[in-house]
Amino acid sequence: METNNQDRHQARQQRIKEKVDARIAAAQDERGLLIVITGDGKGKSTSGFGTIARATGHGLHAGVVQFIKGTWECGERILLQKAGVEFHVMATGFTWETQNKEKDREAAQQVWQEAKRMLASDQYDVILLDELTYMVAYHYIELDDVVNALTQRPSKQHVIITGRGCHRTLVELADTVSEIRNIKHAFDNGIKAQKGIDW
Ligand code: ATP
Ligand code: MG
Repeated sequence: METNNQDRHQARQQRIKEKVDARIAAAQDERGLLIVITGDGKGKSTSGFGTIARATGHGLHAGVVQFIKGTWECGERILLQKAGVEFHVMATGFTWETQNKEKDREAAQQVWQEAKRMLASDQYDVILLDELTYMVAYHYIELDDVVNALTQRPSKQHVIITGRGCHRTLVELADTVSEIRNIKHAFDNGIKAQKGIDW
């Protein structure tokens, strides 16, 4: 009985392996990807930074634009800048606390110019646009402007967009989209954001 189970398991695994191998062999296209990491669960920005670390490890040139300035400097920035990753962080303006729409818009536009410059340059292999989704949702940056910059970028350039509530048009434009669903978060039980984990 035990051996039978083992045999069946092995045969099933073999069939899966054959299918996966066939799909890997069939996937021959190589080009810059647009990746969207959205949803209300924790893990979007860390995923984006993880990919930047992965790319940098392979010697690719990466840039990061952060569209929301947190209270603390995130650990990834401290590490990745040392590894040659170029960072642009929204200087003033938008945080969850500010109420000044015009100032926020200006700050968003300023850092968006850096993003556009990178998206137009073949010097960047991978670009992370962290929390860009909110800028589009609040109309601080026009959707058309984002779509144009993305569609006209160099064909081998990879772009990662993170943030909740990603606009449908960007989801449609993307090659890979993951939605991280919140099941629970420590914060809901009164646990404060922790260094090295939350920023
Ligand atoms: P991370 O940067 O940890 O990957 P994220 O990018 O998915 O998180 P954001 O929506 O950008 O999440 O929020 C940033 C901060 O809010 C992080 O400190 C994160 O731990 C926290 N956070 C993320 N999701 C939740 C949630 N569902 N409830 C409460 N806090 C959250
Ligand atoms: Mg985030």
